Amino acid sequence: MLSVLCETANRFKSQLPRRSYGKVTFNYVIEISPDNGSFQILPFGRTGIELFVPLRGDRSGTPSDDNMKPYFLGDKAMYSLGVPDKGGEERASLVHKGFIKALLSVYKQTRNKELKHVYKVLKSKDLKSQVKAIGIRAGDWVAFRTDPKKYFYDDDGIAEAWERYLRNQCVLSEEAECCICGKPDKILKILPWQITLMGYSCPISSFNADSFESYGQSQTANSPICFNCAGTASHVLQYLIDTEPYYAVLSKDDAKGEGKTPLKNQRAIFWTKADIGPGDLDKTITVSFEELQKAILEPQSVEDYIPPPQHEEQLRRLCRLPWNTSNFAHEIKDNGFFLAIISPNKSRLVLREWLEVSLASFMTNVGLYADALSIISPDGQKTWSPPIPAIFEALKPVKTLLGKKDDDIFLPEKQDSNILRGLLRCCYTGASPPAALLERAVLCFRVFEKEPDVRKQKLKLEGRRMALVAAMKLILFYPVLKEAKTKGEEIYGEEVRRMEQLDEKGGKASYLCGRLLALLEEIQHQHALPKKLNATLVDRFYGTASTAPQSVFGTLLSMATKAHMGKLRKERFTKYEEMEMLLEDISGRILNGYGFPRILNMREQAEFALGFYAQRAVFRKQRGEIMTKP
Ligand SMILES: [Zn+2]
Repeated sequence: MLSVLCETANRFKSQLPRRSYGKVTFNYVIEISPDNGSFQILPFGRTGIELFVPLRGDRSGTPSDDNMKPYFLGDKAMYSLGVPDKGGEERASLVHKGFIKALLSVYKQTRNKELKHVYKVLKSKDLKSQVKAIGIRAGDWVAFRTDPKKYFYDDDGIAEAWERYLRNQCVLSEEAECCICGKPDKILKILPWQITLMGYSCPISSFNADSFESYGQSQTANSPICFNCAGTASHVLQYLIDTEPYYAVLSKDDAKGEGKTPLKNQRAIFWTKADIGPGDLDKTITVSFEELQKAILEPQSVEDYIPPPQHEEQLRRLCRLPWNTSNFAHEIKDNGFFLAIISPNKSRLVLREWLEVSLASFMTNVGLYADALSIISPDGQKTWSPPIPAIFEALKPVKTLLGKKDDDIFLPEKQDSNILRGLLRCCYTGASPPAALLERAVLCFRVFEKEPDVRKQKLKLEGRRMALVAAMKLILFYPVLKEAKTKGEEIYGEEVRRMEQLDEKGGKASYLCGRLLALLEEIQHQHALPKKLNATLVDRFYGTASTAPQSVFGTLLSMATKAHMGKLRKERFTKYEEMEMLLEDISGRILNGYGFPRILNMREQAEFALGFYAQRAVFRKQRGEIMTKP
């Protein structure tokens, strides 16, 4: 991962902020006249002023002779002016000396005359008395400038001198071959940069993951890395973590505070090696490769409608483009796509997943994944492939889902992290989808509760079922679609369309039983009209019907004939005929086969769910029950 970060650094060159710099809010500036060296201390008011200044991320602990780590030309008053804190005069004078030493080292490198003035001012008695008179405290940040409009920090020469100074401070005296660029150089012993994520920070060398092991943990001498490579990797990584569209928040632990579980915080970062816009391949695609990942990784919240994931349609279309024959074939072929999942933990960051694929396989794999996942919306209006967080959201118990605390982002438990990993691998690398997801989805789907009165809650439950069915469909049909792909685009396209909605020709008993249950419910609905039912036979019988059809369908069928069909026949004959025909068709096909199955296994239960869901969507569409955005 580190070498990939370095390789792609050029792509982000113009966007990256200055290296070894950071933002700090300053309280005072000491303005020095470049002509005669006179100075004045200007306060920045209560809120202070934010400046982008030379910083190092590794300052911590009690300052001592070998742990000073002063910043350059802008620091807390204890460092910059020697103002003592609780630690006393001695400590303040020690770190102030360090600050001056750093200043002199820049001066030596740049021969910047104005720095000489700063040095003189720092040594003057007049400064000390003014600092006292104003009451500057040890923790106040103090900046310097010799021009009212410009600070030292914006100067390229100063920035370079700072990096050279840092480098000298952080490297070992011996040279070795850098494990990233392969060039011999002095090796870093400490990394002066921190990666910050959600308030946690640590240097890249203490990430704990397989991909870093070869580069060693904290002992960088054993796995040598040069100043430049480590700096570049750190900066590119931080940039990606903080910048749209290169990240997606997969999950967030809303229970902030100490002792909780920061591992529940997961951020995905992703980028392509070279900057190529999908718009180059097809003008109708308006977003970048990175933005398109939102369709896969970003959580969706159900507001007034069930929305398809943002950009999903464009993503699926992009993956079908015959890029091989385009002018950009070369650029696609040589390009790569990278994805990392990072969580913060107490004192370090955890790299949970690292994927590297060529852009060509990305297009094949992601397309197949999205097509296998895609399913008709519960109102039969649109198809969609739910993003991964929506699948995890759906795996939560209904009670949590409709609880008062409305956190609409999934919190993956430990056992789910394999499923998460499996989904990511399936999506990006083309591995088989995680089989464990099937059982989880089937079990969650089985729970039907009385329909909530609040529309938003109802949509939430419907969105949940849609995500669960999509997950089941992915597991069941991914291999089938993969196979179809080898038979050409036309056959593949037909298969995709057939599977994402009701398959009227589908003859499996499990699938037909699911359809039949949806039909019996519809008959109940039609019978009750114009009254609306908020509880149907599904709530009571779905569990048994989907696991042991034989035991329950006989009763359900005779109930429908006796209780509902008679009335329907009298009052609305056309509807009656329509229902009766469908009833005969479906139950006939089951009986002409092997009859109602005694029990269904997990896969068959998933097929049952698919048949039920798709048939129900058809009825909802007929009744004009709209849940998706028009
Ligand atoms: Zn290097």
